[in-house]
Amino acid sequence: MAWANIGVVGMAVMGSNLARNLASREGNTVAVYNRSPERTRALVAEHPEAGFVASETVDDFVASLARPRTAIIMVQAGRGTDAVIAQLAERFEPGDIIVDGGNANFADTIRRERELRAKGLDFVGAGISGGEEGALNGPSIMPGGSAEAYRTLGPILASIAAVAEGEPCVTHVGTDGAGHFVKMVHNGIEYADMQLIAEPYDLLRRIGGHDVAAIADVFATWNDGDLESYLIEITAEVLRQTDARTGQPLVDVIVDQAGSKGTGVWTVQNAVGLGVPVSGIGEAVFARAVSSKPAQRAAVQQAITGRPQVQPTYDGFEDDVRAALYASKVVAYAQGFDTIIAGAREYGWDIDLGAVARIWRGGCIIRARFLNRIVEAYQRDPELATLLADEYFADAVASGEQAWRRIVSAAALSGVPVPGFASALAYFDSLSSERLPAALIQGQRDFFGAHTYRRTDAGGTFHTLWSGDRTEIATEPSTH
Ligand code: NAP
Repeated sequence: MAWANIGVVGMAVMGSNLARNLASREGNTVAVYNRSPERTRALVAEHPEAGFVASETVDDFVASLARPRTAIIMVQAGRGTDAVIAQLAERFEPGDIIVDGGNANFADTIRRERELRAKGLDFVGAGISGGEEGALNGPSIMPGGSAEAYRTLGPILASIAAVAEGEPCVTHVGTDGAGHFVKMVHNGIEYADMQLIAEPYDLLRRIGGHDVAAIADVFATWNDGDLESYLIEITAEVLRQTDARTGQPLVDVIVDQAGSKGTGVWTVQNAVGLGVPVSGIGEAVFARAVSSKPAQRAAVQQAITGRPQVQPTYDGFEDDVRAALYASKVVAYAQGFDTIIAGAREYGWDIDLGAVARIWRGGCIIRARFLNRIVEAYQRDPELATLLADEYFADAVASGEQAWRRIVSAAALSGVPVPGFASALAYFDSLSSERLPAALIQGQRDFFGAHTYRRTDAGGTFHTLWSGDRTEIATEPSTH
């Protein structure tokens, strides 16, 4: 007999926490299943209060779900997800809903949605952010799939999502893979945010001369202002942590090689494919990669004869660093939202950018006060060309611009790497420059490849006869 209104497959940390979150909400009866039954047994034994309907076979799990059946898969992304989808699809009937809450590649989600739709099943790829804590207490949820599936699923997801300023952090992002695409960009922005926070730490230490405890205090102070965010908050906590073994700040005994699980790389690959410059996210990915090349780092350190002299610190240095961080963050988010706009255009999604900013205000890793400003910017103008053109952000960047330049200069002169700050400034300067040297690049392309160019003073395309008499001829547009 069927009696659970929702099921969860995958009882590792994310799935079991999500199942507990669902079970804690009024009106839910939650069916649970995991490939290895030990995990399910352990969860049920540890949490009798949840009233789980546990199954040890897929058949029993499916039979325990009320119709239309709704099951959320939280298993290893990739083959694990495909295996579970195949098992459920074999047993589910038209109108039933399969939700993938894992970190799927959005292209897989598009494929899976198409395949399941052909069988009459609804498939919803839902990005879920917030790690294990979020899964248990309220994540930010980014579901794709059909509007019809969202009518059934929306209220359930809203009941378990984080709440920010009275609103649940969930919205129907768009059809098929839209949710996982937006989750991918969220993770890319998370990379940029983390790199942009790491640079001030290095600057305050190496140029500012602060010790680690003092830097923790600076971050805690910043967290009281417009930089308030989860990542700034945990940065202060990490910096305050003392290593029990050595009595040193923990950060000083952690190997300085940053790892990654690949979603930052996905964001950069997809953005580049869509022609979107995501230098902020790209530099964050590269910075982790550089840190993880100990042999090259050691070789260069051995090969160089000296390091530049560190520039003296000055009154207001901390404020300058804060302003540089804020301006660079605006750039990183502008590039992230540009990626969503380009993805929506490419894949035919109707994405409400303000709603995306709204559901990122709680539950997820990049939750921040800053996101309210983005919500407002898209309220003012849903067709905004770039966040940098919004009146609030334009003012904020303008008021910090000189500080930003001072910090990037001081870092370069001192030999402190600030790829996030510097590339963000270069991006801002590129957009702000009336003329770019791209004109010269077009000339070079025309010289070696006859790629043609457009003129500032006439329509059509042109080519200079570089290996002839160097006169100009009008041409058809190049296909390259
Ligand atoms: P995980 O370590 O990614 O995966 C382990 C789970 O997948 C286990 O339940 C395992 O079952 C199951 N599984 C693997 N291959 C399977 C297969 N072929 N058939 C059936 N089940 C299979 O688990 P997780 O860390 O809880 O993450 C779950 C999903 O959430 C992943 O997609 C992950 O990327 C995503 N996610 C994780 C986090 C996080 O903070 N951890 C945050 C956001 C999203 P067995 O017990 O039988 O091996």
